[in-house]
Amino acid sequence: MFKKLAATALGGCLLAVALCLGLLPVTALAADGIELYVGGQQIKESGCYENQNGTWKKVDGTEPANGQFSYDADTFTLTLNQAMIVNYQNVTVGGGFTYPGSVIAFSQSADVSLKIVASQGTSNITGTGGIRVVSKAGDASLSISGPGSLEVNVDKNDSGISLIGSKNVNLNIDGADVKTLAAYYYGVDLHAGDGFKAAAVVNNGKLTAGGSGGIGIYYRWTNPSDSGTSSLTVSGNAVVDTRDSKILIASQASEVQVSAGSDGNGGIVFDGKSGTVYSDVTLQEDLEIGTDETLTIGKDASLTVPDGKTLTNDGTIINNGTLTGEVGGSGTVTPKITTDSLPNGTVGEFYTATLQATGNNITWSASGLPDGLTLNSDGTITGTPTAEGTSTVTVKAENSAGSTSKDYTLNIKPAMVPVTGLELNKNSLTLQEKGSNTLTVTVKPADATNKDVTWESSDTDIATVSEDGTVTAISAGRATITATAADASGASASCEVTVTHGNMVQTPKKDATCTAYGTEGYWTCGICGKHYKDEGGTVPTTPEDAVIPAIGHEFEGGLCSVCGARDASFSPALVSGDGAKWTKGSSKGLTFVSSAAFADLVEVRLDGRVLSASEYVVREGSTVVTLPAKLLEGLKAGDHELLIVSGSGTVRASLTVAEAAKVEEAAKAEKASADELPANGDSTAPALAVAAAAAAGAGLVLLSRRRAAR
Ligand SMILES: [Zn+2]
Ligand SMILES: [Zn+2]
Repeated sequence: MFKKLAATALGGCLLAVALCLGLLPVTALAADGIELYVGGQQIKESGCYENQNGTWKKVDGTEPANGQFSYDADTFTLTLNQAMIVNYQNVTVGGGFTYPGSVIAFSQSADVSLKIVASQGTSNITGTGGIRVVSKAGDASLSISGPGSLEVNVDKNDSGISLIGSKNVNLNIDGADVKTLAAYYYGVDLHAGDGFKAAAVVNNGKLTAGGSGGIGIYYRWTNPSDSGTSSLTVSGNAVVDTRDSKILIASQASEVQVSAGSDGNGGIVFDGKSGTVYSDVTLQEDLEIGTDETLTIGKDASLTVPDGKTLTNDGTIINNGTLTGEVGGSGTVTPKITTDSLPNGTVGEFYTATLQATGNNITWSASGLPDGLTLNSDGTITGTPTAEGTSTVTVKAENSAGSTSKDYTLNIKPAMVPVTGLELNKNSLTLQEKGSNTLTVTVKPADATNKDVTWESSDTDIATVSEDGTVTAISAGRATITATAADASGASASCEVTVTHGNMVQTPKKDATCTAYGTEGYWTCGICGKHYKDEGGTVPTTPEDAVIPAIGHEFEGGLCSVCGARDASFSPALVSGDGAKWTKGSSKGLTFVSSAAFADLVEVRLDGRVLSASEYVVREGSTVVTLPAKLLEGLKAGDHELLIVSGSGTVRASLTVAEAAKVEEAAKAEKASADELPANGDSTAPALAVAAAAAAGAGLVLLSRRRAAR
């Protein structure tokens, strides 16, 4: 008592100094009133610690290496990395109190909330006492988080984990695998202030607790008659396992309130050999149920054994909820009938249905089965029903772990009358495209059990058929519509459907010209719009395929012989007659040939004068101009120039007129002149040339028009 007073006086002095200097925030001051002892040594400074020859020494680093722990004074957190913390000596803390314990957090004046992180692997805490969190003034809280494991083994005079508060005590395990075994006291000792709360929460991890006298987790108060509330909450598929001991509460008035956390999956709690599944649980590690152990799945709970995990049941699983996945082992699982409904039967036809259930060693029984049916020991219902009707069948599945019953409605229908034939109202049908007509079917006999038919078209591009037999014409052609009985008889009937085109509209043939394409004649259906070479619509074509290409010009002498179009690239040339000589007195004329087209002739000029039509003769081939002797006789002796002017150009020829010589020379000259005449020329027959020109028709007209225009 004296020591406690002294410590309080010292604390008050420090408080006064701190407040005067304004150095420390109030929370830091409160923390200053909390002491931490690890392995019997008081730890004050944040940092990493390593065990060197039995003493924890501060070393460099921020994260603890393998075998080390780190301490964060700001958050009051110990992080263990496969650390081995041992202490067999009693520890004297502030106020002169002495405790056993390998990890001790203590305060006389404040709440104490110690956090332990098992960062990886397995860390060990061993000694006369394990982890002890004590608040002489308020709450004592301990949280242990993973993802690593923590083993607390106490083989001397104390509990594995002791939370001793003047007010509430809180143990929180989150994501860690914690095992705490105490040879003399309790695995977990939750010792709250009288009337205060003792709570343990295990989320997404495991707490295995065992202790002397079979007490794994002990909830208690100094005065049992003044106990507060107690709770154990499991969530995130956590497991709390006290199978070698039990969960005990030091109160006659109440029980530990066990429940699933409100968010996510629940967990499994083994209170001694009785396990209970709370809410929905998916096994995170293999689970074995021993021969003398029982696991109960509540009505609203479920247990799922995922692939890769094993549930071995050598004891009893009482399944009042949902059990999913394989269950191994030689134990018993309460039957749970999983068959939802029974199939209908038919009078006179053999019936079989198999009932399914989870569980094993099941004995089946049933009441209310229709006449002719029996339930066999393997859960199958077999037999041949003798009468139609509806029965309520109650099935019971039973084994040493319990029994379940389920009611089914079982319909027995009258004996089947098969379809013997179908008849359609039409065997053939002709429809125009887009037209429709409904076929009707008669099912024989009239009392056939199943009068349903199915309809089918052999070519849905030609015609389709709906469920009520309405045929719709799609495109010209032929298709078969078939109705088939829906029962197993295979009876059917068919109708041949011919689909015709609508009005055929003709596009007449149009010839191509030199420059414009033409088209072959074709027919177009007024309904489907498709094109055909024939009015019957059997030979398809397209407007593109019917095109006749333009034939192109046939140019001769600078003009198209078909359409008269001019060839811009053509220039006429003088073919023959240049340099002709003519002697006066000669009877024959002179002939000149231009390569220009006959029809293209504009005029003929002699020495610049346009000759009148009567002064010369012109004929085709290409343009052949003959100056008759009569005209030549009137020219002066000497050189002259003849121009044949065509639409495409002008050709020039020179000619020479000589005076008559001696008779002999004149005859000689005349003979030479005759020799020079072109082979196709016949200048001595102007009448014939005119006749030829007349035969040329259009060419002559063109020639006449051009001359008239002059
Ligand atoms: Zn058509
Ligand atoms: Zn042409």
